[in-house]
Amino acid sequence: MHPFSFIKAANTREALSAGRRGGRYIAGGTTLVDLMRETVERPETLVDISDLPMRDVKVTERGGLRIGALVSMAEAAAHPKVRSLFPVISQALELSASAQLRNMATIGGNIMQRTRCTYFRDVTADCNKREPGSGCAALHGHNRTHAILGTSDSCVATHPSDVAVAFAALEATVHLLGPAGERRVTFADFLLKPGDTPNREQALRQGELITGVEIPALARPLKSGYLKVRDRQSYEFALTSAAVALYVRGGVVREAKVAAGGVGTVPWKLSAVEQALIGERPSDRLWAEAARHAAGGARPLQHNRFKVELVNRTVERQLRTVGGMK
Ligand code: SF4
Repeated sequence: MHPFSFIKAANTREALSAGRRGGRYIAGGTTLVDLMRETVERPETLVDISDLPMRDVKVTERGGLRIGALVSMAEAAAHPKVRSLFPVISQALELSASAQLRNMATIGGNIMQRTRCTYFRDVTADCNKREPGSGCAALHGHNRTHAILGTSDSCVATHPSDVAVAFAALEATVHLLGPAGERRVTFADFLLKPGDTPNREQALRQGELITGVEIPALARPLKSGYLKVRDRQSYEFALTSAAVALYVRGGVVREAKVAAGGVGTVPWKLSAVEQALIGERPSDRLWAEAARHAAGGARPLQHNRFKVELVNRTVERQLRTVGGMK
């Protein structure tokens, strides 16, 4: 591990001041410390923000939900409002990582976590995300777990978060605070596809902090849930996943929010699937036909062609599960 200095921020002003000077924010540290041990990350200054007042979960005036950036994954998953309003968020969190990690890791850190591409974590491998311009060892290497959507010739790594898939489906907004003040960014704009600059992963400005994530008010009663398909049933990242929320009234799908994980360089919003559902009567045939759009535009690699069919089936199964809920 490279030497670094450490600042414990007593308040938001101190944190922002240190962030403006190039300090890296840290809270649970469950990703960053690992990467520092492996020398993938070499920050000169860490700014501990874990004492900042960002630990609330509350229903907004508009009837949505705001989850503070420092709420732990375990706290968010167990929160009664999260469980009752958006089960898809609780389920995505509970299917992530291990109990120990969920106790430490925060919501803000979760959506900031970096890819699990093995070449990214191997400092001897070519990796444009870690060392811009060095190449991408995964393009013609072991790419079974890599992305089939949103890829570029520079990077094909998946985004590893589960709860980010739920946030993408629900069209959440990320609340930010920086030296220039507060701003909000839609989830779709917050996480960046790799393009020619895979080292740039979020639309954060210098010194900006995530203060929370807001899920908008949606029609009620909304049924929702998360399905994760993986090589083993615990402590494993998704090969594919599906976050689904449906509002059905009068025997017709009125609202559909759907996203897939494990297949995109960012959590992959499935607008074509949503459009195929709206205004239709729920049926097994509808779920199957809508899910056929899930892998639209996919560019599979040598070892991950199976993900095309797998994501279609994952979405179909979760549509059927959520659509059949009483
Ligand atoms: Fe690096 Fe992305 Fe290629 Fe993985 S897929 S080696 S993270 S550039």
